[in-house]
Amino acid sequence: MRLDRIDTIDAASSSWPSQGLETLGTCPVCGHAGREPLLTELRDLVFGISPGTWTLWRCPACGAGYLDPRPDRATIGLAYAGYYTQEAAHSSGPVSAARTRRLACRNAYVNQRWGYSLAPALTGPVRLSAAQQRRADRVVRSLPAPSPGERLLDVGCGNGAWLDLMRAGGWAVWGVEPDAQSAARAAALGLSIVPDLLSAPFADQSFDAITLNHVIEHLHDPCATLARCQALLKPGGRLWIATPNLDALGRVRFGRAWRGLETPRHLVLFTAASLRGILAAAGFESIELLPPTDPARGMFLESARIARGRRLTWLARARVKWQAWWADRRVSREPERAEELVVVAVRRAPYRAPP
Ligand SMILES: [Zn+2]
Repeated sequence: MRLDRIDTIDAASSSWPSQGLETLGTCPVCGHAGREPLLTELRDLVFGISPGTWTLWRCPACGAGYLDPRPDRATIGLAYAGYYTQEAAHSSGPVSAARTRRLACRNAYVNQRWGYSLAPALTGPVRLSAAQQRRADRVVRSLPAPSPGERLLDVGCGNGAWLDLMRAGGWAVWGVEPDAQSAARAAALGLSIVPDLLSAPFADQSFDAITLNHVIEHLHDPCATLARCQALLKPGGRLWIATPNLDALGRVRFGRAWRGLETPRHLVLFTAASLRGILAAAGFESIELLPPTDPARGMFLESARIARGRRLTWLARARVKWQAWWADRRVSREPERAEELVVVAVRRAPYRAPP
C-alpha cells in the first residue's frame, strides 16, 4: 500500500488500514503458540500520531510481549510521521559555561575509565557519584576505546549524533537507518548510512561492536536481526542493547499509560529473561544485564502525564516523584524490574575441535 494514499487519516479516531495489518499467531521471540492478552484496546497515547487499536499479548514460555495483529512493513511508516529522531543532530545555539564544565567532567571520567581521548576534558582526578558514572558509561555504551581500525555499527542510528561522537573517539563507524530524513541528517555529518541491516552489503565478521539503542522493540523480526548481528561481529565482538522492560515497575503501576509501550511503534517488548533467551539462541554468550543508567522519575512522570491526559499539577508531580524514588530503591535490588533493560553480550567463538 502506498503511504501517500492514506496520509490524511485522522490519527486520533481512525483504524489502521486493514490491508496494512499482519497477524503472527506465535511469539516472534521464541515461536511459542500459547499466549495471554496482557493489554487490550491500546492506542498511540504517546504522540497521538498513529491510527489503530491494538492488543499486546504475553508469551508464557519466554515472557516477551508482542502486538498481534500489527502494522506490516509496508505501512509501519504511518506510525512515524514527525518522529523525534528526525531532528538535527546538533543544535547551533550558544553553550553555557556550566554545560561545558559538566561535559569536560564527564569526558574526563570516560577517558579514564574507558581509555578514550574525548575533548574537552578536565585534567586531574574527577569525582562523580555512582549514578553519574553509570550515565557517563552510557555515553560510550560501555565500549572500551578501540584499537586503530576497529569498526562499530549502530543499528537505528537516527540522526547520527552518537556515531559522530564515537568517530571522534577513534572508531571507524557505520550506521543503519531506515528513515530517509534521519539518514540524510546523518549522511550530512559525513557518516556512512545504509537503510536496512538484513540486506546491507557488509562482510561477515567485519565489526568489533554493534549497538541497538531502543531499536529492537521496533523491529518486525528481532531474531533475524540478531542473527545478522552475530554474523557481522568478529568472534569476541560486543553487542550492546537497550530496550524498554515489560517487567518494569512503571508498566505495572501505569498499565496502558506506561510510556514504554509506545503502541504501535513498539512491536515486541522484552523482559530480562526473554532478552537473554533470544541472545543466547542467536549465538551470544557472557550476557550481562547492566545496572540502569536513569532513575525511574522520567518514565514515571511521562506515564503519569499520559494517564492524566494533560499536564500534572504540582501535587501530582510530587506524588509521582515519590513513587519513582521508591521504585529506584527496589530496582537497586532487582535490576530486572528497571524501566529499561541494558545488556552487553559477546559473540560466541565458533567451536573448534581439539587437534
Ligand atoms: Zn515467547
